Amino acid sequence: MTDANTPIRIAVIGSGPAGFYAAGHLLKDADAGYEVDMIERLPTPWGLVRSGVAPDHPKIKSVTRVYEKTAAHPRFRYFGNVCFGEHVSRADLLAHYDAIVYATGSPLDRPLGIPGEELPGSHAATEFVGWYNGHPDHTGLEVDLVSAERAVVIGNGNVAVDVARMLMLSAEELAPTDTADHALDVLARSRVHEVVVVGRRGPAQAAFTNPELLELGELADADVIVDGDELERALAVHDEAAEQDQTSRRNVEILREYAQRTPTAGRKRVVLRFLLSPVELIAGDDGALAAVRLVRNELVRDDAGALRARATDESETIPAGLVFRAIGYRGVPLPGVSFDERAATILNDGGRVLDPESRAHAPGEYVVGWIKRGPSGVIGTNKKDAQETVNAMLADLSGNGASEQNGDGAMAGARHTPSEPDAAAVEALLRKRQPELVTYSGWEAIDRHERALGEAGGRPRVKLTEIEQMLAIAAAEEPA
Ligand code: NAP
Repeated sequence: MTDANTPIRIAVIGSGPAGFYAAGHLLKDADAGYEVDMIERLPTPWGLVRSGVAPDHPKIKSVTRVYEKTAAHPRFRYFGNVCFGEHVSRADLLAHYDAIVYATGSPLDRPLGIPGEELPGSHAATEFVGWYNGHPDHTGLEVDLVSAERAVVIGNGNVAVDVARMLMLSAEELAPTDTADHALDVLARSRVHEVVVVGRRGPAQAAFTNPELLELGELADADVIVDGDELERALAVHDEAAEQDQTSRRNVEILREYAQRTPTAGRKRVVLRFLLSPVELIAGDDGALAAVRLVRNELVRDDAGALRARATDESETIPAGLVFRAIGYRGVPLPGVSFDERAATILNDGGRVLDPESRAHAPGEYVVGWIKRGPSGVIGTNKKDAQETVNAMLADLSGNGASEQNGDGAMAGARHTPSEPDAAAVEALLRKRQPELVTYSGWEAIDRHERALGEAGGRPRVKLTEIEQMLAIAAAEEPA
C-alpha cells in the first residue's frame, strides 16, 4: 500500500508524441517527484515520429530532441519490446502504479467498404507508410511499383499527400532520407508515372495543410495537375465555414495557381481530383487491380449546415494498378480497457477513462493522443491534449478531482491506490515476462548503430527493420 513517503508512480503505455508529452508534463514538477515508466511494444520509441512522418520531413522528426530530454530524466524508465495485453495486463499495472496513461494511438486504417478492396494492388496507406518508414510490422509488404503506371490515392488529408509525394520523389530526393532500404530499392525501380489523388468533397473542404499542398507543386520530377473547370465546379457551392478558415482559403489559392500551370510533356504527374468517391475496385484478367470505378458527387448541406458529398448518377472509371486508401486511421481496443467502438477510441471524458456501464471514472486510468480524441491534429496538438489529461490526473491524485463535474454533470475523478507500488518489483515482473526487454540504453545503442550506418551515405540513419536485429544491438547494453 502507498504511504506518504512512497513516490507516486505512473505507467505510460506507448512512446509516441502523446505518451512523451504526458511523461514530460508529469516529470516537470520536481517537488511532486512523480516516477514515470514507459512501456512500448517495439524496442524503438517515438511512435509515428519514427514510423509515420515522411522520410523527407527531417525537421518534423527533430521533435524527438524534446522527448530525449524527457527520457534523460532520472525519474523516467523505458521498457521497450513489452506488449500490453501480452507481457503485462491492466490488472498487473493497477497493482503496481497509482495511474496508467494509455497512449497507444490509432494503428489501423479505415476501410472503404467497397467491392474489390482486398484485390492485389489495393493497399491501406497505413501499411505503405509503415513500409517506407521501416516499421517492423510492415517490412514484408509487397508493393508492386513495376507493373502499375498509375496509382490512385483516396482521401484529401496529409497522409494522402505524403503517399502521393513519396511515390513521385526522384532518386536524388530520396537519397538523403531515412527511407527504409527495402523501400528505396523498390521505389528506385518504380514505373509509376501518374498519381491521382481523389477527394470526395471539394478543394475548400480538403483536410491537407498549406505546406504539404505546396510541396506537391515543387517536386523535381513531377508536375501537379488540377482541372480548372472541375475546381470551380466544386467551389461553386458556398461554404461559409471554409471561408472563415485560413488554411482552407490558402489551399484554394494554391489549387487555383496549380490549375493555371502548363504541364511539361514526359514528366510524371500528380493529378488532384475532387467530388469523386470510389465505389468499386475492378480486377484485370490476372486477378489483380486494374481500375477504380468512381461516382461523381455533388455537395449538399446537412442539417447542421455542413457540406456533405452526395453521389450523382454519373460515374467514371480510372485505369490503375495501385490504390492507396488514405481516409483516416482507426484505434484498436486494448485488452480489458473500456472502448468506444463507434469512435474507435478509449471511452473517456477529458482524458479520464470511463467505465462503460456506469460512465463513472475508472480510477487510476487515463488516456492521451489519438486513442483519446481520434486521429486528428499535428504532432504538437498532443502537447495540449496530454496537458488536459495530466491536469485531470493531478486533480484526482490530490483528491480534488471528485469535486469537478464531468461532461454529463456526474462526479468525476477517483483516486486509485496500488497494492504494490514498488519500482523494483515491477521491473522484475516485466523482465520475467519478457526477458528481451529493451531499456532506454538499449534503444540508444540501436540509435547509435543506425546513425553510424547512415553516415557513410550522408543519411540521418539506416533503420533496422527487423526486431531480431534491434534486439541483438540492444543486448550489448542490457545488464547480464
Ligand atoms: P484526415 O486529415 O482526417 O483526412 C482524411 C481524408 O479522408 C479526408 O479528406 C476525408 O474526407 C477523407 N475520407 C474519409 N472517409 C472517406 C471515404 N469513405 N471516402 C472518401 N474519402 C474519405 O486523415 P489523415 O490524412 O489520415 O491524417 C491524420 C492526421 O495526421 C491529420 O490530422 C493530419 O493532418 C495529420 N498528418 C500530418 C502530417 C503533416 O503535418 N505533415 C502528415 C501526415 C498526417 P472528408 O473531409 O470528406 O471526411
